[in-house]
Amino acid sequence: MQYFSTRGKAPPVGAGTAMLAGLAPDGGLYVPERFPVLAPDAFQPDAAFAATAATLLAPFFADDLLAGALEAVCAEALDFPLPLAAADGFRVLELFHGPTAAFKDVGARFLAACLARLPREGERTVLVATSGDTGGAVAAAFDGRPGFRVVLLYPRGRVSARQEAQLTCWGHNVLSLRVDGDFDDCQRMVKEAFADPALRARAGLTSANSISIGRLLPQAAYYAWAGLRLWRETGMAPGFVIPSGNLGNSLACLWARRCGLPIGPVVLATNANETVGEFFAGGPWTPRATVHTLASAMDVGNPSNMERLLHMTGSPEAARGEASAVRVSDEEIRAAIRRGPERYGQAWCPHTATAVHAWESLGAAAAERPWVVVATAHPAKFEDVVEPLVGAQVPMPPALAGLMARPRHCVDIGPQAHELAGLLAGVSA
Ligand SMILES: *Cc1c(COP(=O)(O)O)cnc(C)c1O
Repeated sequence: MQYFSTRGKAPPVGAGTAMLAGLAPDGGLYVPERFPVLAPDAFQPDAAFAATAATLLAPFFADDLLAGALEAVCAEALDFPLPLAAADGFRVLELFHGPTAAFKDVGARFLAACLARLPREGERTVLVATSGDTGGAVAAAFDGRPGFRVVLLYPRGRVSARQEAQLTCWGHNVLSLRVDGDFDDCQRMVKEAFADPALRARAGLTSANSISIGRLLPQAAYYAWAGLRLWRETGMAPGFVIPSGNLGNSLACLWARRCGLPIGPVVLATNANETVGEFFAGGPWTPRATVHTLASAMDVGNPSNMERLLHMTGSPEAARGEASAVRVSDEEIRAAIRRGPERYGQAWCPHTATAVHAWESLGAAAAERPWVVVATAHPAKFEDVVEPLVGAQVPMPPALAGLMARPRHCVDIGPQAHELAGLLAGVSA
């Protein structure tokens, strides 16, 4: 399988090369040349998630450097439970049982397991800017891995206390930089470092950015897995309601449906960032400055994966035919969190709460088929929002509690690219 750039001005590459590059050299995003169609009976009915993922992804890695390693990658990276829990009226796909309690663990662990198996000269430095969940997941995935360093940048004062603990609690191969600026500053500094070929080569820079196909492909696998399970149970293709920001998680679902998996309608739950909701309501695609909301990991004003959706469908009209979107205000997020324990016996994280609200607003469609609400993070990760609303403490899962107890390390830097360049020169391979 080859991967093409959405902008069509870069040579096609294999999966491993696309992962090492992150972004295509023409500035586009890598997309698979085609979507292989797999019938449900291509999958073992009682297979574990890792085996289902290996079956789905095999054609995506055909003829690649990583083809022979795919089963081992899946077994190593996708080793935590993904329960399809029952709630009143829908099922909940809980993606938060990994080491850092958010779905970013799935993609980060898969990417790390792939990169570790690709040939390399000298040490690689995985450079990542984070607004919260990605940095912790990437650090956890590379923590203690020989031949890799992680340098992560996060904005001072803009992440939750528990997120900050997860960004700063790692071993010696993780350098956490607390930037005196906002997330956009962090992203700009990372981009400038990648744009400097000498620095890039000297520090062996590698991206773990959310647009990497190494993060998207394993996400398609959990939609395949959940869709197959419900289809076997009910004979119907379930609908999915997905908390969406940069559209990576929802695009992965659309990819799985293109591969012929039993997946019905896809509903994107979005927050007060209007770009996606406006587009799916028939309006133009209008990127905007980011608005801060309670569902902070979905605060994206210019979602990058739209470029992939438009490429896959060929036109805005066709893209609108793939999914619908429900816009959810902070007030509605608060209300959904507040009634979670009584109505469903659960506390939702603010992101999952947007999807619960969106499901509740489906009306008659909610009764037509089974529905899956995708739970993207554990509520204990956002206790500062959740606990006052539900009026109770939310117990931390053991993995998260273990990280909170570790010593913290971080280095403060200003929002200038040359400060980052100086530090990276010091960590050269
Ligand atoms: C990243 C994230 C999202 C948004 O996912 P996208 O792939 O950017 O659409 C939603 N919820 C949580 C908890 C996240 O960390």
